[in-house]
Amino acid sequence: MSYKPMGQGHRGVLRSLLAQHRGRVSLVTLTSFSGAIFEAGLLVLLTGLAVNFASGGTQLGPYLGITVSSSLAILMGLGALILRLVFMLASVMVSTGLTAEVTLQQRRALAAAYLASSWSRQSAEPPGRLQELMTSSIARVALAIQAFNSLLSSALSLTALMLTSLLLNAMTTIAALAALVAIGLLLMPIRRLIRSLSSKWRHADMEFASKVSELGALGLEMQTFGVKGSFLDQIDEQTQRATQAQQRAQIMNASQSQLYISLAFATILGGIAASSSIGSADVSLIGAILLLMLRSLSYGQNIASAGAAVSTYTPFLQQVRDLTAEYTAAPAPVGQLTPGSATPITVTDLTFGYSEDRAALDAVSFTIDKGESVGVIGPSGSGKSTLAQLLLGLRTPNSGLISVDGVNLDEIERSWWADHTAFVPQDAQLISGTVADNIRFFRTGIDDGALIRAAKAANLFNDIQALPQGFDTDIGPRGGQLSGGQRQRISIARALVGNPSFIVMDEPTSALDSKSENLITETINLLKGSTAVLLIAHRMSTINACDKVLVIEQGKLTAQGSPESLASSSPFYRHAQGSLTGEVGPAVDG
Ligand code: ADP
Repeated sequence: MSYKPMGQGHRGVLRSLLAQHRGRVSLVTLTSFSGAIFEAGLLVLLTGLAVNFASGGTQLGPYLGITVSSSLAILMGLGALILRLVFMLASVMVSTGLTAEVTLQQRRALAAAYLASSWSRQSAEPPGRLQELMTSSIARVALAIQAFNSLLSSALSLTALMLTSLLLNAMTTIAALAALVAIGLLLMPIRRLIRSLSSKWRHADMEFASKVSELGALGLEMQTFGVKGSFLDQIDEQTQRATQAQQRAQIMNASQSQLYISLAFATILGGIAASSSIGSADVSLIGAILLLMLRSLSYGQNIASAGAAVSTYTPFLQQVRDLTAEYTAAPAPVGQLTPGSATPITVTDLTFGYSEDRAALDAVSFTIDKGESVGVIGPSGSGKSTLAQLLLGLRTPNSGLISVDGVNLDEIERSWWADHTAFVPQDAQLISGTVADNIRFFRTGIDDGALIRAAKAANLFNDIQALPQGFDTDIGPRGGQLSGGQRQRISIARALVGNPSFIVMDEPTSALDSKSENLITETINLLKGSTAVLLIAHRMSTINACDKVLVIEQGKLTAQGSPESLASSSPFYRHAQGSLTGEVGPAVDG
């Protein structure tokens, strides 16, 4: 449990955010203040008119030495009313625009920082955190901005009313102002408490989000292990913790606003008592000041509640900022060079460890030639996926070299390498949308002809034709309407459609039936000679279709060569081959 101490930091982060939107903030200021000036004028005219009607008078004032007739005052009042409305509506438009702009900017900055961060950073991201920040936390940042706008426009309205009141009667206004400031100071400790409660709320929310993402990912396990009850208890406990923190912050928030209004009423009462003991002749002046004070009171209350809301929601801005900075501090490498070709790939003494004390890959050397298919086998945890990630440029070797047509992979421009390579993961990750959307996968410039060619090469074309709308069939969230084999072949078509020179496939057949597996083996045979493939495989049938096989055990390359030559040189290969013909089935991995 570690959350940042409260205080200056949060306000500083809000200030620096608003400084980036100076234009809009100035517009909010201008429109609110103008609206409030007209409101103050309207209140003065209203009081004068009311007193006139009661006393049968026809003249208002003198206010600042000016006297006006009742009929002119009514016209002026109408004018002030309309102008106030125009400025207040303009203020609402500008402030909602500011909130929308900040939301968009924060979401974009967070997403861009995440996407630009290295794979090591991305893969270390706790489940649910990014989602929680992108949605709930940024929604609360929007609330902080809304509260700030309300705070700003209420403070300006209050200032305008006070200025008007000051012109009417300086002494009373100064006394009232001093009282408002004193009340504000009195409520400071409560605001501090709100900030600290809000931080606890934010922390509890985050734990809850990670629990919920477990629920999303582990549905199958929850069912089969029969642990739904105890998981639900944990969800309950986390929910309680989150809502308790939220409730406490909100109670304090509302209490401080109520406390403020009570104290302010008490002050006005005191003021009236004081002025009646001094004695005053001008009823309309006293009436106008009283009206201005009462209206100021409601702005004062707005200031108190908006101030508390700013305190409540600003920690969420800090949190979004912190994570954005964390991602920015771990950028993915960007190279500058572009080799003549994506093959041959020469791996020399490649060593990599996730921690300093243990190498996941130890001095591995091999080559992948143009159009060569290279199978990789080895027990679970031996370093196969790590090798795939290094070849894709997702991780940087600790020592040794991966060179692409003579150029160090670390120095190759990332977008060039991404254009020339493709990856088929173990679990096909499909996006919501059509079959075509899934094959294109956000890339532009892929025409229908390329889609068809890729689908045919991935042995998927007949399946697509059998779908109700062919390539335009919506496959439902995460491809839920397709079989495992179809999902995997969509993932292969996605890899092939960009015409890569080198494809990495990480156990693409591990969860498939033998028919789907055969279709994928056919694809690998089709690619031979044109596209280099590194295939991490479970199944010996797909491995035996490769030109060359690497055997990796405990991070070391223990054998490499053609499938035939490995039968004599690698005990692991022999064992794996044996289990293929036995009853155990595919047991290469482990
Ligand atoms: P394989 O693909 O052969 O099953 P991996 O390449 O996934 O093996 O893992 C190799 C070793 O590196 C294992 O000991 C594994 O525990 C460790 N490892 C894999 N990924 C990570 C990671 N993100 N952080 C720390 N250690 C990891």
